[in-house]
Amino acid sequence: MRGKGFQFMRLKSILFGGAFATCLVAAPAIAEDCPGNPDAMGVSRTIVIDPKETPTLGGHQYNSRLPLEPKEFILTFDDGPVKKQTPEVLDFLKKECAKATFFLIGVNAQENPDLVRRIAEEGHTIGTHTQTHAYLSRIPIEKAEKQINDGFRSAQTALDPIGKKVSPFFRYPGLMYTPETEAYLREHGIATVGIDVLASDWFGRLQHNPEGILQRAVSRLEERGSGILLLHDVKKVTVGLLPELFRRLKEHGFKLVHMVPKDGALPDIPPPTAEEIAAKENAEKQKLAGAGERHVRHVARLHRTIHARQREHARRHYTHRVGRYKSSSYNDFIYDN
Ligand SMILES: [Zn+2]
Repeated sequence: MRGKGFQFMRLKSILFGGAFATCLVAAPAIAEDCPGNPDAMGVSRTIVIDPKETPTLGGHQYNSRLPLEPKEFILTFDDGPVKKQTPEVLDFLKKECAKATFFLIGVNAQENPDLVRRIAEEGHTIGTHTQTHAYLSRIPIEKAEKQINDGFRSAQTALDPIGKKVSPFFRYPGLMYTPETEAYLREHGIATVGIDVLASDWFGRLQHNPEGILQRAVSRLEERGSGILLLHDVKKVTVGLLPELFRRLKEHGFKLVHMVPKDGALPDIPPPTAEEIAAKENAEKQKLAGAGERHVRHVARLHRTIHARQREHARRHYTHRVGRYKSSSYNDFIYDN
């Protein structure tokens, strides 16, 4: 599917001299190519983003919209990967032959590198969402830059063993940005991917109300006509409502578009400085020392429990065998000291 898209992209690039480099019509809907699922959502076309030409996208945050046709949507998932829900989301997307863009949190990528690789191997796009989900407008620019860099490094480290690359796509936690962070991303060849349509699947009050999320997603997409939809693959409620969401979107005639970076476009992230490496090593040492102390405490607790059980066992045995000969004060003396 992707191959077809790129071929078509090349053809259009030749025809239009690259003027349409950021957005290109690709292959027709491939739902019929989805094995075992004739009603699959599939991917109707691929849209190619060059961060140099399109450094910001998303109408909710920037007044910058991708050239989507009416009833086209791009599916994005934030905050993963997590052990429980992300595989379920991937299973569902695979069944639908659908492709999404995942904005990963660095620490989650470090914890679940196998899932980062699975996302990439199954043809989805990988962008990042800071190292620890920091709100970048609330911290000094140096820390914000480090959050951005570490997020990309964590995702790329997970991808290195399979030779895949993280895309130069970034989404701000809470969409919180400053002119400095915008400049930093732009200087480093990274496109900021905003949002056109919110499904509000992170609202606490909607966690047990999938219908509320479904109605928001579909009605807001209808209202806007097309756009980038935000969901969270860390939310149980979201995983559960995906089949119904796709059913309704198909019913309303929506088509899925997959966003990918321009061939060879990579985030220009500097390697960690000597100071950063030293700080990381130090943090790991402290973590290990903490784990050592915790282990010692755990073993001591375990010994106390074992001793208490042994004492109890011996007390019962002793009382059973010779209890009639002994006073309770003698027992207390033997076993409680
Ligand atoms: Zn987030």
